[in-house]
Amino acid sequence: MSAKPHLSPTQLEMIAKCPEAYRRRYVEGEKIPPGIAMAIGSGFHVGAETNFRQKIESYVDLTPRQIEEAAVAGYETSIAGGISFTTDEVGQGAANVIGAAKRDLADMAFEHAKKQAPDYQPVMVEQPVKIELPGPRDLLMVIDIFDDQGRVTDFKTARKSKKQADADTSIQLTGYAAAVKALTGEAPAESRLDTVIISPKKISRQVLSTQHGDGDFVALANRINAVNGLIQSGNFPPASPGAWNCSQKWCGFFSTCRFVNSERKSLAERNDQ
Ligand code: SF4
Repeated sequence: MSAKPHLSPTQLEMIAKCPEAYRRRYVEGEKIPPGIAMAIGSGFHVGAETNFRQKIESYVDLTPRQIEEAAVAGYETSIAGGISFTTDEVGQGAANVIGAAKRDLADMAFEHAKKQAPDYQPVMVEQPVKIELPGPRDLLMVIDIFDDQGRVTDFKTARKSKKQADADTSIQLTGYAAAVKALTGEAPAESRLDTVIISPKKISRQVLSTQHGDGDFVALANRINAVNGLIQSGNFPPASPGAWNCSQKWCGFFSTCRFVNSERKSLAERNDQ
C-alpha cells in the first residue's frame, strides 16, 4: 500500500504564490537547481543545526569559527548539487558570484553565532512532525528549533528587513506551532522569525515575535482543504501577471512557462528581470 501523500508549509507557500509552479514542481516532478540565495540559506541552516543539535546535551555553543565552518561546508554541498544563475549573475561570472555569496554566508554565520545562538537553549532541533489529517494529504514539517522557553523559531537570511506581518501570517511558523501543539498538547508561548540581514554596508539581526493559536490552526486547516480541492480539480492557475515572484529571478520555470509570453521571456533574458 502506498504511503499517504503529504503537504508541507513550503508546498502551501508555493501554491499560494503560484499554483502552476506547484504543478510543475510537485505534480510533474520538475526539479530546478536552487538559486544562490537558497544555497546561502541552506548553508546557514546547516551551521545553526550543527550547533543546536549538540547544544541540546552540552548547553554550550560551538565557537563562531566552528559554526561558520559548518555553514560554509553546507553551502559547498549545496553548490556541488548545481545552481541556477540569473542572466545578471552569468554576466558577473559564476565563480565570482559563488565566491561573494560564500563570504556573505561566512559573515552571516558569524553574526548567528554571536547574536542568535546564545539566545536559545534547544529542546528539539530539525524535528520532523507529521500531523495526520482526515483529508487526502497529511501535513509534514520539520521544526527548525523549539527551545526551553516554549518558543518556536524560524531562522532566515535576507538582504532587507522583514515586516511584522511576515511573522504574523507565516505559514511556516503556523505549521511549526501546530506541530508543537500536536507533540506537546500546547501551542508554543511565542513564534519567532529571527533573521540575519546583510546589506553592502552592514550586517544585523532582526527578531519578529508573534503567537499562533487555535484561530491560526483553523485557518491553516481551511487552507489545506482548499489546496486539496485545487489539486483534485487539476486546474492550476498561474501567478498574477506582474507579481514579483513571476519573474526570471524568482521562478525557475519562467523561461519555459506557458503563461509568460515570448517577448517577456526575451526581455528577461536581456535585462535579467
Ligand atoms: S513563470 Fe509565473 S506563472 Fe509561470 S510558473 Fe513561474 S510564477 Fe507561475
